Amino acid sequence: MKFETLLLHTGNEFDPATGALSAPIQNASTYRQADPFVRQPFDYLRSGNPTRRALENVVAALEGGTRGFAFASGMAAVTASLLGFLSKGDHVVFSADLYGGTYHFAESFLGRYGVEHTFADSTDLAALGAAFRPETKVLFLESPSNPLLKITDVRAAAALGRKHGAFVIIDNTFMSPALMRPLELGVDVVVHSATKFLGGHSDLLAGCVVTNTPGHAEKIYAVQNLLGGVLPPQDAWLLMRGIKTLAVRMKAQEETAASLAKSLSGVPWVKRVHYPGLPGNPGHDILAGQASGFGAVLSVEVDTVERVKRIIEKAHLWSIAVSLGGVESILSYPARMSHASVPPAEREKLGITDTLFRLSAGLEAAEDLFEDFLQAGDII
Ligand SMILES: *Cc1c(COP(=O)(O)O)cnc(C)c1O
Repeated sequence: MKFETLLLHTGNEFDPATGALSAPIQNASTYRQADPFVRQPFDYLRSGNPTRRALENVVAALEGGTRGFAFASGMAAVTASLLGFLSKGDHVVFSADLYGGTYHFAESFLGRYGVEHTFADSTDLAALGAAFRPETKVLFLESPSNPLLKITDVRAAAALGRKHGAFVIIDNTFMSPALMRPLELGVDVVVHSATKFLGGHSDLLAGCVVTNTPGHAEKIYAVQNLLGGVLPPQDAWLLMRGIKTLAVRMKAQEETAASLAKSLSGVPWVKRVHYPGLPGNPGHDILAGQASGFGAVLSVEVDTVERVKRIIEKAHLWSIAVSLGGVESILSYPARMSHASVPPAEREKLGITDTLFRLSAGLEAAEDLFEDFLQAGDII
């Protein structure tokens, strides 16, 4: 089955009890037990829920995994995937160019529980290899990176992680399973902020974790059930609805991102365009070898902070906002928004300058988006 078909035919697309062509929303917090000595499939909402289960099965199928877990946010998914594996004395290697919240979790939380960490440039396999220690338990990757869209060779990085005896987790939010299925590349656990492309409509906060290893699934389930950051049934249903159109949205948004990357490259006051779909981009060939597309997010560096201010003030079609992956185009300013919690010196080192914008292409016409960006930035 092709991915487009799978999106609508994972086996969870209708209610077996009534034939309704949409999984029902089941809100009950508790269930009548026929016999407390016999385990029923569901007993309590935190521990399991039919609507959430249907979503979890859908996400597992899309990633080519055997078990999926739905959380109340991407951060709940990221932290559950890590906490499922870590104990005092363990060490984690993280991709250096990381989602701001994950960076903050590593910096301000893990150490308090006796877990050490190292940030390494995962796009440089020699640098990545040098970061492992005998006690490294987890390699946590993010690719494409945020916000510079740097590409990690996921197959090679996962092999390196395994060679050092580490579990490999990847944040696949930017690609989505429509473009990349990391379990097929040797990764153990995939996490998503489903708030972004999976949900796709900027109206939902959710996170997912998928694995194909039963032992890992048990560990993640234990964290989901004990820490309790579960996705409520209404939101699980809304996310399932959004997922049905993932392939068509991703295809259209990617085309727009590619067109914008090309036209923005020709604008005199745009100094650099970071988009792995551009032929000269250092990650282009690697991404082409591990994914079926280049994604709908790009970033651009303009010439001056004055230009930044002008664009923020004058853009109409582009919403100035955090987040990405929705049907409406979003322009974000990482230095003051998504990466505000990263110290300025660290930000500068990562290349997240004060003149960098991140663009998430939505479903508007590419020409309109380009013209709006241009009129906002052009000083008349
Ligand atoms: C947004 C995001 C997260 C966090 O997800 P929330 O749903 O906001 O909790 C994690 N990783 C990446 C790459 C993201 O873009």
